[in-house]
Amino acid sequence: MRLQALRPQLKRDPLGSKHVNALLSAWHWLKAQFYWRRPHEWKRQARALGLQPVYADWVGFFGLDDAGNPWFAEHASWRDRKPVAERELRHVVRAVASRRYFRLRRLRLVRTLTAITCPTCKGTGRPPLPPEHRYRIICQCGGAWWVEPEWIKADQPS
Ligand SMILES: [Zn+2]
Repeated sequence: MRLQALRPQLKRDPLGSKHVNALLSAWHWLKAQFYWRRPHEWKRQARALGLQPVYADWVGFFGLDDAGNPWFAEHASWRDRKPVAERELRHVVRAVASRRYFRLRRLRLVRTLTAITCPTCKGTGRPPLPPEHRYRIICQCGGAWWVEPEWIKADQPS
């Protein structure tokens, strides 16, 4: 290798360079592999009980059983889980799970005749947030692009 190749080229902003970006994306890829191999404790617990872990928010965890029914547990433990009753939440859990896990694709939601395009993401499936949050925060439609009109009304304080 020529010595010159080892010297950083400072003519451009080093963080904007192709090489740095390639390194960064390799790092993010590696980190993702690591995460996949060492799942969070809540995911391990869910699988031990026969549930597919779907996502976690600041209140608790959401998972699916084999029949496609969403379950919720507070952060303490899956042992105290309860079925998710709210239709809009069931929609989100199933939408996220069917997109995230190939083997759950049969749970993909079919848009109903009464559905409206999600007013939050305007049908893009992603909330209108800066890129660093857009892919971490789940839209109210669960990324399914549509919601039922009565779920929107339920969100408004009466
Ligand atoms: Zn949406």
